[in-house]
Amino acid sequence: MKTTRRSFLKGVGAGVLCLSLGQLGFDLGEAQAYAARLKIEGAKEVVSVCPFCSVCCQVIAHVRDGKLVSTEGDPDYPVNEGSLCAKGAALFTLYNSDHRLTKPLYRAPHSDTWVEKDWDWTLEQIARRVKDARDKDMILKNEKGQTVNRLESIFWMGTSHASNEECAVIHQAMRGLGVVHMDHQARV
Ligand code: SF4
Repeated sequence: MKTTRRSFLKGVGAGVLCLSLGQLGFDLGEAQAYAARLKIEGAKEVVSVCPFCSVCCQVIAHVRDGKLVSTEGDPDYPVNEGSLCAKGAALFTLYNSDHRLTKPLYRAPHSDTWVEKDWDWTLEQIARRVKDARDKDMILKNEKGQTVNRLESIFWMGTSHASNEECAVIHQAMRGLGVVHMDHQARV
């Protein structure tokens, strides 16, 4: 969402008002609970699991008219007891963010411009480049003559936005190609 000067000042004004009411001794807890209830009123509760690490915290997803309207930690689940780390707490924005990319973007070598591409073109490019790198750089044997089938010119960097299952499939695919250099960003 674009923040205009007007919406920014309105937000600051509301924040100052809440702060002042709180400082004056008004209990804002009830108003906050009421606002939270409004947000999920009429929504169906769907119990799900945070996909970002093997802790597998349980999440309650609120769905209204087929659309996700809120996510929160499940207080009844013994592993996380309602809490979520920063990644799990941002689950809703992953789904709902204006910054979420829904189409591949490509920046050609030496260009400073990103261009929207379709998935067929993108997957073809990735496959072509992986195949070319593998054909050129695959190491079949080490200096002792032992079979290693190792590819050192590709590095795989995982993302915290991949689920456990996606990570498992990616890992197997990379090992199948002979890739030995891998790391993953998703650390709690
Ligand atoms: S990423 Fe955080 S919220 Fe998600 S399962 Fe792991 S610890 Fe829980």
